[in-house]
Amino acid sequence: MERLETLEAILERLRKSIREKGLKNSKQREEVLAVLYKSGTHLSPEEIAQQIKLADRGASLSSVYRLLAYLEQEGFISGLKTNHGGKRYEIASKLHHDHIICLECGEIIEFVDEEIERLQLEVAQKFGAKLISHDMRLFVKCEKCSS
Ligand SMILES: [Zn+2]
Ligand SMILES: [Zn+2]
Repeated sequence: MERLETLEAILERLRKSIREKGLKNSKQREEVLAVLYKSGTHLSPEEIAQQIKLADRGASLSSVYRLLAYLEQEGFISGLKTNHGGKRYEIASKLHHDHIICLECGEIIEFVDEEIERLQLEVAQKFGAKLISHDMRLFVKCEKCSS
């Protein structure tokens, strides 16, 4: 899925928000964002920890969990509950899309269906409500796992 910002622009926003909160700048926080941006996909905390270790051997899994929690809370990344080995993460600055998740192998497919998008708006309107966001996950047995 297409990215909406360059990595540099996202890191700039991160640094600004850290400055405003009076937090200490951390190289690892930026590395987590860079790993997720470059991968373009949905990574588990373990996969992220592995990739960061290349650059910084001190990055332990528990500190990666803390960094991910912070980045998700601040809206820089999105967590995706997969029902298959816990949450996976992706960069938040992507075009809107929904997910198909294989319950057997954990494969994640991104999709956009204009009709489903429209129907969700209509359902909310039917109840006199204004749709703010939605989270749509289809749990499947994928083609590979079915054959
Ligand atoms: Zn599968
Ligand atoms: Zn996605």
